Amino acid sequence: MAPFRNLPDATVLTDPDALEPYRHDESHVLGVLPLAVVRPRGPAALKELVRLAKAEGFALVPRGAGTGKAGGCLPTGQRAVVVDFSAWPGELRVSPQDLSLSAPASALLRDVKAAAAAQGFFYPPDPNSWESCALGGTLATNAGGPNACKYGMTRHWVLSVEALLEDGEIHTFGISSVKANAGPALGQLLIGSEGIFGFIVGATLRLTPMPREYTTLLLPVKRWQDLLDLPGRLCGAGYLPSAFEFFDPAVLSELRAHGPEEARRLPGEAMAILEFDERGCTSEPFLEGLLDLLGPVAEGLEVASDERQRQGIWAVRRMTSAFLKERHPKKVSEDIVVPRSRLGEFFAGLERLGIPSVSYGHLGDGNLHVNLLAAGETEPALLERQLMDLFRLSMSLGGTLSGEHGIGLAKRDAFLALSDPGQIQTLRAIKQALDPQGIFNPGKVI
Ligand SMILES: Cc1cc2nc3c(=O)[nH]c(=O)nc-3n(C[C@H](O)[C@H](O)[C@H](O)COP(=O)(O)OP(=O)(O)OC[C@H]3O[C@@H](n4cnc5c(N)ncnc54)[C@H](O)[C@@H]3O)c2cc1C
Repeated sequence: MAPFRNLPDATVLTDPDALEPYRHDESHVLGVLPLAVVRPRGPAALKELVRLAKAEGFALVPRGAGTGKAGGCLPTGQRAVVVDFSAWPGELRVSPQDLSLSAPASALLRDVKAAAAAQGFFYPPDPNSWESCALGGTLATNAGGPNACKYGMTRHWVLSVEALLEDGEIHTFGISSVKANAGPALGQLLIGSEGIFGFIVGATLRLTPMPREYTTLLLPVKRWQDLLDLPGRLCGAGYLPSAFEFFDPAVLSELRAHGPEEARRLPGEAMAILEFDERGCTSEPFLEGLLDLLGPVAEGLEVASDERQRQGIWAVRRMTSAFLKERHPKKVSEDIVVPRSRLGEFFAGLERLGIPSVSYGHLGDGNLHVNLLAAGETEPALLERQLMDLFRLSMSLGGTLSGEHGIGLAKRDAFLALSDPGQIQTLRAIKQALDPQGIFNPGKVI
């Protein structure tokens, strides 16, 4: 406790029982017990923490809501202090003129989206944890979700970022306009940086008018293979879904056999949920053209005719991760990406590798949650080989080893082993320039 006794404007926890939850996030990784958890309530606390960390040689590990799936907010090493941003002050402010919203890092994403919606605007990033994750965490992980296939990821919606760097001062990177070209966009360097360059304390986000109509479809398909061609065929025909989620045959069978009542009636070999939100997407010509494309592959297509049905379709998708986790508590869920045009090749390769897995996720942008359900019972060296094979396969097809969860601790070794050495060298040079003493989240990403 000694070095933290005089920390201004902060709550400090040092009781081991209170520290224990901070060893966990939503990944399968376990952190060590931190020296302390600090909840700062203003810049003075952070400034003093940075000074102490440099003087006393401990690490600062930023944490939002702890819903991360890569172990990024977990303390490692001998001496780490978790900096929990949940008490960071600030208001949500919408500017209709600038089509923007400013918010502190502590704001829950759910409140950010609601504040925009209350004034008729839309903030698209929608990780499936949107009701519980914090804005700061979504910025630091560059979170994505079902909407990313049309709207892109968090970084596409950030106008400016406020961050406290190793000089102990808060700096603003960017302005409240989509047009800004005064040198490289340094704010973008902080988005997706997983806390290794400094603390994000707030941001100004870009908004867009709220979509006014939706076409939402539940699409069970006769043949799994047909589903894999569909994202490319839809795009080729000029249809851009705002979401295109999928369940492979194994996940659909589990849902049918053990899921809730509404999942038991689902037909087909595999299934997708598609949503469109552009103006005119509920018109007859739009739907006719779409159904011409989907009809031949569908087995019992459902189109939501009202908001209640739309939410019913989405409920199946939202419960999938929790449902599988409950049935297979020690599963490992990966989130690789392959380009839409290579989905068929990916699943053929996965079968050839013989990795026992089931998949669901974001087919529309090729971000696939490949779940190794038996990971808990698999010998660790074999599990590691299976994961490396999976990453190599996605990378050999022009993809990557993480689409949205990030690298953190969970994928650090694989990231270092499989990335272009030039990329790692560049990242390390940037880290050295921004954080020469290595106080911010050491041992993560690089
Ligand atoms: C059920 C479920 C569904 C999910 N679905 C998705 C999904 O669809 N898409 C997706 O992208 N993710 C998803 N996630 C993962 C997770 O919710 C996201 O990564 C989210 O952005 C993490 O936010 P958080 O506030 O919980 O961050 P944390 O878990 O607290 O932290 C995540 C990382 O950000 C860093 N960090 C946090 N706050 C700051 C800060 N203020 N300054 C600097 N660094 C900071 C941490 O050090 C860590 O490296 C899901 C998780 C769950 C449990």
